[in-house]
Amino acid sequence: MIAAAPPVLDQGCASAPVLRERGQREVFCGLTGIVWLHRKMPDAFFLVVGSRTCAHLLQSAAGVMIFAEPRFATAIIEERDLAGLADANEELDRVVRRLLARRPEIRTLFLVGSCPSEVIKLDLARAAQRLAGAFLPDVRIVNYSGSGIETTFTQGEDACLASLVPFMPEPAAGAEPELLIVGALPDIVEDQLVRLVRDLGITRVSCLPARQSRDLPAVGPNTRFLLAQPFLGDTAQALEDRGAVHLSAPFPFGAEGTTDWLHAAARAFGVDEMHFRATVAPGRERAKRALEHSRAQLEGKSIFFLPDSQLELPLARFLHRELGMVPVEVGTPYLHRAHMAAELAQLPEATVISEGQDVDRQLDRVRAAKPDITVCGLGLANPLEAEGFTTKWAIELVFSPIHGFDQAGDLAELFARPIRRRDVLRV
Ligand code: SF4
Repeated sequence: MIAAAPPVLDQGCASAPVLRERGQREVFCGLTGIVWLHRKMPDAFFLVVGSRTCAHLLQSAAGVMIFAEPRFATAIIEERDLAGLADANEELDRVVRRLLARRPEIRTLFLVGSCPSEVIKLDLARAAQRLAGAFLPDVRIVNYSGSGIETTFTQGEDACLASLVPFMPEPAAGAEPELLIVGALPDIVEDQLVRLVRDLGITRVSCLPARQSRDLPAVGPNTRFLLAQPFLGDTAQALEDRGAVHLSAPFPFGAEGTTDWLHAAARAFGVDEMHFRATVAPGRERAKRALEHSRAQLEGKSIFFLPDSQLELPLARFLHRELGMVPVEVGTPYLHRAHMAAELAQLPEATVISEGQDVDRQLDRVRAAKPDITVCGLGLANPLEAEGFTTKWAIELVFSPIHGFDQAGDLAELFARPIRRRDVLRV
């Protein structure tokens, strides 16, 4: 038997004022999403239409993953395109034709917009439509924007998945309710969560993105969807526009978060409560035991999140509720109040919730608060370390498997490690 989650006595930060800041930002653009999305969809190719800056960004973000057969590339807009001397559309068509002739295994081609393509108003949506005529049914050509003007870091995944929703088929008339798990997860984590959902008795379950980019699941009024990632506002909206129903839940981080997330599905599909508890108990207990390993380092320690990925609020809730950490300020690049309602309600009232960034002012607040650990991007981590702060690189949280029961211990460890290292170096 498992105990019910402790009741939430106050409103936490549910209706707390949000500090909104607009100024200098230290964040990635949405192109970085390609680094994990191309691994999730091995038959897709991401063609960024951008500048050398975009190509450099992708190259440095992907690091060692520049393979012999890469599945992303940048069609570089040259000066003569910018000067209007060349027809950028013709050039783009030529690049796409050459790419698809060389790489017949590509099933979906994403034309990814960037700041330069947007500034010169290159209409990639029209280009995708024009090229689709020539390449369907072999290749589907889809367009989304990963530009720094429109997207921050993980919002690139949101834009990508939202661009796939119009291609999802209609369900058969009178189809049974089906569960859709939305958000790119490492395959091993996805398998674990799908297995748990099936063990609950929910057998009609599918995922977006699908592993084969052309096997898109159906969507319609019989679809109930759970978000596995907190940064999917546009995708959720696009699914709702097709009639799907969002199951509101905390995100599946830690023993409690994963239990609550599964519980939302169990309730929606009428799973017997006793069966639910019996099914999740082993994973939940394993997760709780795994968390104990990091508790000594984390309990009572203060933490400050700078905005990066939108994972900040669910992670702060996990660290507070399950490991006793004290969140001082939780910054997020964008706050979707409805999707974050369950998270906000579980954060202590004294937490400052901030949206957007004015980096100098935020760093002043870090210095004043002197948190035990600061979660931030690579550009800020070393300067803060030099000032004596202990930091955690936020990007690792996006690239590591952190969802679900079996990753809970590793997730806690990602935060415990820098504190342990600091303590060792201090001695
Ligand atoms: S899309 Fe914009 S922000 Fe991103 S690398 Fe290209 S120019 Fe820079």
